[in-house]
Formats: sequence, C-alpha cells, structure tokens
Amino acid sequence: MSVRNVLIVGGGFTGLTAAIALAQRDVKVTLVDKAPAWARVGHGLTIQGNALRVFTEIGVIDDVLAVGQEENSLTLFFADGRVMAEMPTPRTGGDDLPATIGALRPDLHEILVRKAEELGVEIRLGLELTSYQNDGETAVSTLSDGTTETWDLIVIAEGIKSQTRPKLGIAEDRAPSGLGIWRAVTSRTPEMTGGIAYPFEDDGGAYKVGYTPVNADQCYIFVLCRPERPDNGLEGWQEVKRLMENFHGPFDYLRESITADTFLNFQEIEWIFVEGPWHEGRVVALGEAVHAVPPLIAQGAAQCVEDSLLFAQYVTEEGALEDQLSAFYARRIPRIKGVVDASLQLAHWEQNPGTPGADPGRVMGMALGALVAAP
Ligand SMILES: Cc1cc2nc3c(=O)[nH]c(=O)nc-3n(C[C@H](O)[C@H](O)[C@H](O)COP(=O)(O)OP(=O)(O)OC[C@H]3O[C@@H](n4cnc5c(N)ncnc54)[C@H](O)[C@@H]3O)c2cc1C
Repeated sequence: MSVRNVLIVGGGFTGLTAAIALAQRDVKVTLVDKAPAWARVGHGLTIQGNALRVFTEIGVIDDVLAVGQEENSLTLFFADGRVMAEMPTPRTGGDDLPATIGALRPDLHEILVRKAEELGVEIRLGLELTSYQNDGETAVSTLSDGTTETWDLIVIAEGIKSQTRPKLGIAEDRAPSGLGIWRAVTSRTPEMTGGIAYPFEDDGGAYKVGYTPVNADQCYIFVLCRPERPDNGLEGWQEVKRLMENFHGPFDYLRESITADTFLNFQEIEWIFVEGPWHEGRVVALGEAVHAVPPLIAQGAAQCVEDSLLFAQYVTEEGALEDQLSAFYARRIPRIKGVVDASLQLAHWEQNPGTPGADPGRVMGMALGALVAAP
C-alpha cells in the first residue's frame, strides 16, 4: 500500500468521505478544517442516487436515509401553478436506492463526522494549511499553529475557494456562472413533493423557483436569479417574496411561509473545472477544489464523494503512488466533464430563455443517465 499516514485539509463532503474511506482501509488519517467548530447552519441539498451508492459503500446509508426525504420524481409547473409535467428522476445509484433524497446539509455532515470519529480519524478544528513541501517519498505540512508534520500524502479538500490550489501549479480559477441563488428552509404541507416552476416571462427577475422536501414537515426553497442583488431597499426575506410573487400553486404557500425569521442566504454561483493534473508529488486536490458546477442537475456533492471513495481505493492498492494518482485522475475526468458540460449548458439556457434548440430536459436526462454506470 502506497500510503499509511494522510493529512486531509477540509472537512466538507469531500474531505470527510475521503477520511472515512481511507480509515476503513487501515490508513491513519488526520483531518484539519479552518472552521473553529462545526456549525449547525446550512441549507437543504438534493442528494442523488450515485452519492447514495457511495454512502452505502462507506457504511452510512441507513443514517442518511433516516434523516432524508426520498423523492423519485420532480413536478414541473407553469408559473400560474398548473402542472407542466411529472418527470421520473433517473436512479443513478441503481434500482435498490432512491433516485434522490432531500436533506439538511448539517444532518448529513453530522453523520459523516460521527463515522469518521468512530473510525479513529483525528479531527483538528480551527487550523489551516499554511504551506507544504514535497520531499521525495513524503510531504511536509505547515499548519497555522506553526507545527510541521510529515505525511505519505496530503489531500486538499478545501472546496471551490481553495487557497492551496494555485500552489499545486493549477492555473484554472473559479469563474462566475452568470447566476445567483437565494435559498431558504421553511415549512411544507405533507402532500408537497419536489417541484420547479418556470416564469412566463422574465418580469420579476427569477429564472426559476423550486423546492425539495428535506423531512416530514420542512423543505428548502431556491430562487435562481441574476448574480447581483437589485438595489431596491428590500431585506433578504422581502426580496425572496418579491421574486416569488408571480409563482402560484404550491409556491403561494411557500412564499407565505417566509418571514423575517426565516434562515436564508444569497450567493453568486461560481464554477471551476481543472482539466490538468490534480496532484503534484504527494499533494492531491479533490472535490470542489478542482470541479464545481452550477447546481442545475444537483450533482456537486455526488461528484465529490465519488472522487473520495475512488481515490481511497486507488491509493490503497499495491503500486506506485504517482501511477495511482494519474490513473485515478484519468478515470474521473470524462465523467466529471459530462456533468460540467451539461451544467454550464443549462446555466446558459437559464439566462437566455427562448434560445432556439434549447432542450433542458434532454440534456439533464442524458447527463444523469450517464451516471448510472459505476464511476
Ligand atoms: C447554491 C448551491 C446549491 C447546491 N446544491 C447542491 C445539491 O442540491 N446537491 C449536490 O449534490 N450538491 C449541491 N451543491 C454542491 C455541493 O454543496 C458541493 O459540491 C459540496 O458541498 C462541496 O464539498 P467539498 O467538501 O468539496 O467543499 P466544501 O463543502 O466547500 O468544504 C470545504 C471545507 O474545507 C475547509 N477549508 C477551506 N480551506 C481550508 C484551509 N486552507 N484549511 C483548512 N480548512 C479549509 C472549509 O472550512 C470547509 O469545511 C450546491 C452548491 C451550491 C453553491
């Protein structure tokens, strides 16, 4: 086995899944995160079947299914509330798993942290990687507390804003997608299943509005819109209500549920795709540090956890680490490129409704269909 002692930098989906999968293969793992404590705040996520397949393999699927809300189809609405279509969602994790679940991000994060701790992963919070040095058969880290340590491998799982990425010789940087998104968690009625509504025309600034149940009585709402907030003097919750005001049917209930106390957040959506190598010597970047997409087919976290499991499998086989990292990267690139291309195409069509030949349903279906095969 090429690696026995690994430092993981970043404790999101990527870093925690890599930590679990390595520890299950008898690797000693230390994980650092710059957050001083794990925060319980956060939004809902759609977790697709291919991510659930990874969660099955790392032994957390029962806990994940227990906190999530299964969804196997999506309702498309016209803005006035009429149903446009009911679309079955491809079962990207195979027929034994739900097509998707909706869940609160902190619930999933807690499950992964608990599993990592059970497996003996040492988690140190409030620490950043300041610098590293490749030293032949090892890599040496310097952390923000001034300590230096030696590892067989350092994994950069810092997310899209990774500061270590350029130090690996990676020239690509995150870029604007042209989209912004509001997200909120609010109550739902029992009969609501996941849905997306499209405006008749771009009159209020929302490209589309959607919701996904995350448990028996809550859902998360998103409003896809322009990347800049209009200067209209409205507070966040008032702006979300304004953006939703032309959407009816189930969206009337959701809009009315939003109050000044609703936890919500606005962000500009960025993307990155690093097509060149993801490693330099004994330091490798995974997950959103090297690929992040607008969440239009909800594959972000799924691609991250696929990376992490496959990576752990490669580097714990017999052989030379350089060959293993190169083979791992070569295997991931075509699959991730399919997700990136589809997501960017969909982002373009969101911003340019009425584009001749636009066919989001076909692009989405083909992109997800391609993921049913094992990664
Ligand atoms: C609006 C939006 C909606 C989304 N919706 C979905 C969805 O429905 N389904 C889905 O599958 N995906 C979705 N995604 C994508 C998903 O959230 C990401 O793919 C996933 O969270 C990325 O995980 P990560 O671990 O690579 O990075 P992150 O979650 O960003 O984690 C990085 C971690 O590294 C830490 N860190 C960073 N730098 C350092 C450092 N120098 N030292 C130490 N620690 C550091 C950070 O504190 C953080 O904990 C969405 C993304 C966005 C923006």
